[in-house]
Amino acid sequence: MPIMKPLYPPQQLRFLLALHARKELSSDHLHHLQAMKKGADGEIRWTTLLSELPDDIPILYDLNLEINQSIIQLDALCILQNKIVIFEIKNFSGNYTLVGDQWLSPSKKEMKSPLIQIKRNEPLIHQFLKRYQLPIPFEYHLIFVNPKFILYGAKPNESIIFPGQIPQYLDSLKKQTISPTLLHTKIIETLLNNHKNKLNMLVKPEYHYEELAKGVFCSKCCGRMERLSKKRFKCKKCSHSGFVNDIILNNIKDYSILFPERKIKTLDMYEWIGKQVSTAIIHRILQKNAKRLGNGRATYYELINSYF
Ligand SMILES: [Zn+2]
Repeated sequence: MPIMKPLYPPQQLRFLLALHARKELSSDHLHHLQAMKKGADGEIRWTTLLSELPDDIPILYDLNLEINQSIIQLDALCILQNKIVIFEIKNFSGNYTLVGDQWLSPSKKEMKSPLIQIKRNEPLIHQFLKRYQLPIPFEYHLIFVNPKFILYGAKPNESIIFPGQIPQYLDSLKKQTISPTLLHTKIIETLLNNHKNKLNMLVKPEYHYEELAKGVFCSKCCGRMERLSKKRFKCKKCSHSGFVNDIILNNIKDYSILFPERKIKTLDMYEWIGKQVSTAIIHRILQKNAKRLGNGRATYYELINSYF
């Protein structure tokens, strides 16, 4: 019963990347984007490590649960036989210091303790499990995935897993076996049913369609891409390459993230991607990946996969 909610870049990050490719961001927004990117890299690192677990252990990623009008974000979660294990993933690198409860960044600036989020979420998760009658305990861990992270002055704390402790911790998880029960199924269903896919954007810079650069842009580095061959596009900046269909679809998704209120039409998409492929190709991609609505000149599309 390995049900996995696939990992997609957080909505806010995806949004800022789509915009960054096409418009110059203010330094504040750029800073925010970089911090989010680093966080997402950490999540990907942890996903790769968890993929070594036995196939029958259900893992869920990036859940946004609404509990008592608060939204809590859970980076990753494993369901074991008799407990749930929740992971808050941090990709900090450098030398941090702990003085009492106060965390200091590598530049010795006071910062918010990453443990605060766990302390805030714990009672909410208890409420959630109680409300949906899911009698199972949970552990909540703060995982530092970056091998370059050091925390001076740290005392043993069972909620924190430091980079050097990860291999041993994973070994203990790999030894777990699970025989699925109705409770497990109910837990997974309840979590997924309460997952809010579309979060309100925390940061939303101003922009207009007209001012955004048109063309095909790279999802890795936001650079411009050019046609390499009949079937492939290649990024001029980072050399990332991909199939025409995937790259164009990705650029259409960017459009729908940046302009959720606009309809997706073939000719508009032709303009959006800077006329880099023919309308026939765009039409084919939309037919395959989107729901066709309306008729004739008013035909428009809705992307089938709501995840981005
Ligand atoms: Zn690139």
